Amino acid sequence: MIGILGGTFDPVHYGHLRSALEVKDIFGLDEVRLIPSANPPHRQQPATSAKMRRQMLALAIKNQPGLKVDTRELDRYDVDKIPSYMVDTLESLRQEFPTEPLLLFIGTDAFKYLTGWHQWQRLFDYAHIVVMTRPGFEIDVLDDFFKARLTQEINSLSQTVAGKLYFSQVTQLDISATAIRGIIADKQNPVFLLPDAVIEYIKQHKLYETH
Ligand code: ATP
Repeated sequence: MIGILGGTFDPVHYGHLRSALEVKDIFGLDEVRLIPSANPPHRQQPATSAKMRRQMLALAIKNQPGLKVDTRELDRYDVDKIPSYMVDTLESLRQEFPTEPLLLFIGTDAFKYLTGWHQWQRLFDYAHIVVMTRPGFEIDVLDDFFKARLTQEINSLSQTVAGKLYFSQVTQLDISATAIRGIIADKQNPVFLLPDAVIEYIKQHKLYETH
């Protein structure tokens, strides 16, 4: 089973990294692929170049063999220049891994807007979706499309390669890249929110110094 965490990673922080590690262990995954988005469709363009966001990710996971940077969205954008749709990313992973269950991890906030994603129903053709929830946080109403796919049996995710919806609790760290960019622009200290190697990189390249 392969896990996937897409994001802008501008910059990567302990909220991403801790969640990725926990779900890797909870689901017994061979690896979790962190996939930086080249041109995210639903938000402002990242402040930082794709190359730098990728380099920060590589520094952050250097000593964690189960976490990998997957650059397929960046590579694809170099060729086609169209927005980085997750459905295209999952299709390409499915071609590479025809018989592996794929688990797409998204935060609760991202799940709330899932039905706005490009061809969102097709995501379930290629992967299971696992929503990483806050302890005690419930999503109260699920529509029929989601109810039909919902499972509470963790084992059922390894029995089919795609198509199920599962809610999993991870330790919630209230850290966001937006807040980190603000802290740096305000000349405050971002230490303990993201890895020191990434902070060093940000300093060297003078990133996020203005609002
Ligand atoms: P920004 O503040 O720039 O919007 P972000 O910190 O939310 O960035 P993204 O790179 O956009 O980070 O997030 C990628 C994925 O990681 C999303 O699915 C998001 O829900 C999840 N995520 C981000 N921060 C956390 C966190 N602190 N805990 C759990 N999941 C997170």
